Amino acid sequence: MALLQISEPGQTTAPHQHKLAIGIDLGTTNSLAAAVQSGKIRVLTNENNEAILPSVVHCGEGKLTVGIDACPYAKIDPTNTIISVKRFMGLSYKEVKDFKNCPYDLIENGNNVQFRTAMGDLSAVEISSAILSALKQRAEKTLGGELVGAVITVPAYFNDAQRQSTKDAATLAGLNVLRLLNEPTAAAVAYGLDSGEEGIHAIYDLGGGTFDISILSFQKGIFKVLSTGGDSTLGGDDFDQLIIDDCLKTLKLGELTPMQMQKIKQFARSAKETLSTDDFAEFNCIEAPYRIGKEKFENLSKTLIKRTLLLAKRALRDAQVEPSEVKDIVMVGGSTRMPLVRKMVSELFNKPVLCSINPDEVVAKGAGIQANLLAGNKSQNEVLLLDILPLSLGLETMGGLVEKLVHRNTTIPITRAQEFTTFKDGQTAMSLHILQGERELVEDCRSLGKFELQGILPMVAGNARILVEFQVDADGLLSVSASEKTSGVKVNVSIKPTYGLSDSEMEKMLKDSVLFAKDDIKTRQCRETQLEASRTIEAIDSALAKDKQMLSKEMVDDIMQVRSELLTVAKSADEKAIKAKIEKLEAVSAKFVQMRMDAAIAKTMQGHNIKEFEE
Ligand code: ADP
Ligand code: MG
Repeated sequence: MALLQISEPGQTTAPHQHKLAIGIDLGTTNSLAAAVQSGKIRVLTNENNEAILPSVVHCGEGKLTVGIDACPYAKIDPTNTIISVKRFMGLSYKEVKDFKNCPYDLIENGNNVQFRTAMGDLSAVEISSAILSALKQRAEKTLGGELVGAVITVPAYFNDAQRQSTKDAATLAGLNVLRLLNEPTAAAVAYGLDSGEEGIHAIYDLGGGTFDISILSFQKGIFKVLSTGGDSTLGGDDFDQLIIDDCLKTLKLGELTPMQMQKIKQFARSAKETLSTDDFAEFNCIEAPYRIGKEKFENLSKTLIKRTLLLAKRALRDAQVEPSEVKDIVMVGGSTRMPLVRKMVSELFNKPVLCSINPDEVVAKGAGIQANLLAGNKSQNEVLLLDILPLSLGLETMGGLVEKLVHRNTTIPITRAQEFTTFKDGQTAMSLHILQGERELVEDCRSLGKFELQGILPMVAGNARILVEFQVDADGLLSVSASEKTSGVKVNVSIKPTYGLSDSEMEKMLKDSVLFAKDDIKTRQCRETQLEASRTIEAIDSALAKDKQMLSKEMVDDIMQVRSELLTVAKSADEKAIKAKIEKLEAVSAKFVQMRMDAAIAKTMQGHNIKEFEE
């Protein structure tokens, strides 16, 4: 007889298990993790009660140091101390080799870039994974168990390659990625804007080295990114520089050694942070005392803050939203602790800003709340967080043109399918080239990958029906499948680009698409006409090959004459002339087409009673 397991009331042996999941803000300057514990969202701290983990990794000989302990190495061993690795994620060597103030020994490895360090050659993914790994360990220690997964935040403007790299870093750190979440969306979730009324929100994020502004709309339980903007080279560091410059000027200091410079940088940063609460700050700079008042600092800061406001206005314009239509303004990033930043931002929108949650914890907290939901701890009222695609995705079609399947700014996840056909008679394979970008021509877009659908049954051109499906998941990653019905063949690929685009490159692609839009449309139309010309010629050739004997020599000559005229003119960019010749070729071969049709009908009816074909 089986023994029955008996448990005391209220002490079931299997309590409804709370699955452990964390949210991680993988920041350029600082990273941190948060989790829901006993129904409350909390940031996870280390043994010294510190939540913030500086995103600094020292790659020493045989020893990897992450976080606060790695910071001192930035001064004494800069080549092996990687700070702001996030700026390198998903980028190629070509894209990062000219980065300013970069003391690293960068090497090219295929399309990717690696840091040559005392630990060996490491990629940005590997270095990021060291940061994620440190947070994972912290979480397992504080939460007391294994994690089911993590939600990791990324900037809203991150492209496919940058997102994929972030995901790879997490996987490498042994984390199961429940979802990648846009940083502004995470901030909005932290403030519970997802359980509030519908409306538009602005997320103003001023971090250590970057500024991001995002305009989100919240409708029917869904967050949508209406627009993003910012400056990847504007952040807290620039405010530190204001103090450094003032200090050097006031104390009339000349050239400093790199070591002295590093020291002043540190002093300036903490002076700046002091000025967020105190009326003045002072420090000893190379034996001389330096002092700065809040008023002076704020006067110096105005220009920088105004720059962020201009970018915010631009993002509002892109989203076609007036400042007065914005319901909430969420302050994110350590630099929004500066009172003048809060004041000037609230003046722009003419209402108070949201800053009750610690601005450097808000993103991690939102991610932690979402991780808790995705881990299945709460199934009701789950928010489906939707994001947008930063650049359009499409396929190369004949003539070097790009057919866009999913347009830029479409909310994701999304699935879009479109039917394509074969161009040549008897074609048994079709090559699919996937592209990202806004321009009309393949050479102006970015190639994401190529693959082939094989085993298509030989058919007359245009008869095969090839269904291509693009699927962009909630993390912004793309998979493509192609199938041909009659032949029953199918291929699937996940697109994992080997390198990505920088911010400025993405901006350029968008700008170019506007700049060249007219040219592009013209070129497109012309290429399409050229294609139509070659299609017409192919059709004639194939008909002549089969049924030339039906025609008199004169008729053949007439057709061949116009065919060769069309062939010549099709090489030009004269769309009108090409069209005219296509029509002429169709006209001279009209009789031939008719004759072939009659012959085909006659053949079909051979041996049949005509009655069978009448109703
Ligand atoms: P990131 O998102 O880029 O990783 P954070 O949001 O953590 O960065 O912001 C780091 C920046 O915040 C640093 O420049 C730091 O000096 C600044 N910061 C932190 N606390 C304060 C403060 N009290 N006053 C002003 N700036 C601050
Ligand atoms: Mg941040």
